[in-house]
Order: sequence, then structure tokens, then C-alpha cells
Amino acid sequence: MPELTLQVGNVRLWLLSDGVSYWDGGGTFGLVGRSKWAKLLPPDEQNLVPQALRCVLIEADGRRVLVDCGVGDKPNELLATQYDVRRPSGTLLDDLHRLGLSPEDVHLVVFTHLHGDHSGWATCLSGERLAPTFPHARYIVQRREFDDAMHPNERTRNTYFADNFAPLWDCGVLVLLDGPTQITPSIRVVPTPGHTAGHQSLIVQPRGEPPIFLTGDLSPYMIHFVRLPWVTAYDVLPMQTIDTKRHWQLWAFEQRAIVVNSHDVHMPVGRLIRNEKGFFSAQPLDAHT
Ligand SMILES: [Zn+2]
Repeated sequence: MPELTLQVGNVRLWLLSDGVSYWDGGGTFGLVGRSKWAKLLPPDEQNLVPQALRCVLIEADGRRVLVDCGVGDKPNELLATQYDVRRPSGTLLDDLHRLGLSPEDVHLVVFTHLHGDHSGWATCLSGERLAPTFPHARYIVQRREFDDAMHPNERTRNTYFADNFAPLWDCGVLVLLDGPTQITPSIRVVPTPGHTAGHQSLIVQPRGEPPIFLTGDLSPYMIHFVRLPWVTAYDVLPMQTIDTKRHWQLWAFEQRAIVVNSHDVHMPVGRLIRNEKGFFSAQPLDAHT
């Protein structure tokens, strides 16, 4: 079943999963020494740590909006050798089916960014050809992200797989945004550059309730949101990540926002609190808040 269901005012969210991927902990925690992060997330003997492949389904304003879509199932040698995906409960599509939904039921797909662990199910093989997996959906991403993904460099080449997004453009279902945009009356996107230059996060605003902030990889684990210098080694603009986090960390605290991250296996959802010295920490949040 979905990892968590949240009902906040007129909005419903399901945390869905495309499995768990095992990555080198040095990548996840960047400059932070292993002795620090290993206490929070003990690595295995190969230094691998688990990353939930989290996707979020939002039901609001009569629309079903899927945020990010895992690694998918298209044959990909690099993914097979480097992503180490384990799926004891199946894929994102299995999670959707458990909710009684099929790909036809999704109206919008929003990408926080186009890395291979966030855009995999966007397309699938239909016979010989690649087609959108969600046939009735519009797909939404920042233009800057799409441009960078279509022109990867030596550093980003191993994570932008054109099969995931180029067919969307060819089919005319990809919508490119330039900055903050209201997607539905309750859902907007805001640029959160750092992990990638064109990265965006989502703010869901239920009526009369605190907002819900879907960080994407601005904060893969909750600890990244709490501690500004904790930045992954994958971030292309690490100082920008810190500035972006500084802004949204304070915003989330002041708004009492529910924060949902992209990969944390222990605390997918939480709320910031601050001690008398001014330091932030996160409190886990259970379902049905
Ligand atoms: Zn990611």
C-alpha cells in the first residue's frame, strides 16, 4: 500500500514508491564525513545507503497530479549497473493500481527535475516505440531543466536519459515553465535551484490549513533540509542549494509547512521546529494530520 496518506483540508496526498535504490553514501552526503552521516544512516559493507524512490500523488481541485515518477522499467544498462533498484512491493504502477487507479487516471505529471530516478515512468515502450506512460496527462517541467537535460555534460550524462523525456516533447505533451507557476488553484511550483539549475519544488495549499512543501531533491533526506551545509555530491550548484534551502527552511518553519522529501527512508514527512539556540530540527508527521 502507499507509504502514507495525508488528508489536509480539501487536498489528499499519497506517498507512492517505485522501490528503493542503493547508492554510495558519499554521493548522498557530499562533503559531510562518513562518521557523521553513518550514525543516521548506517551503510552496508559496500558503503551503500538506501534511497526511497518516492513519488507523490495529489488529488486536489478535481485533478490527479503525480509528482515525479521513479526509475521506470525501460531497459537501461547504466541504470541496471549503477542504480541497484530493489522492489519488494513492485513499482509505482503497482502502487497506483493498489489505489484503484491506472495510468489513464493521471491528469498532470510534474517533474521536480529530470534525473533518471525522477522521470523513469514518464515514458514506456509500446512495441518498438517510446510513448507517454500516462496517456491523458500533460507533463510539466521548468524550461531550464529540459534544456540542460537535452544537453548533458560530462558530469550530468549518467543521470539524464533522453528516452524519459524527449518523446514527451515529440508528442507535444510537455509543458515548459519559466519560473513560479500556479498549476491548479491549490498547487504551485517554485524554482529551487541548486541540485540542478532548473530544479523546482511544489507548494500545495489546502484551504485554511498550513501548506505542504514537496522539496524534491532540494532535500533528498530530511537532514538535508534541517542542516544547510549538508548537500549531496550530485548537486551541480552546491552554494546555490544552500541559499535556496536557507530561504525555504525559514519559510517552512514560519508557515508550519508539512515538508515531504524525495528519498528519506525513515522520515518521509515532517515539520520543522526550532530550539532556543535557533537550531532547526524536524519532527516526523504521521498520517491523517
Ligand atoms: Zn533524486
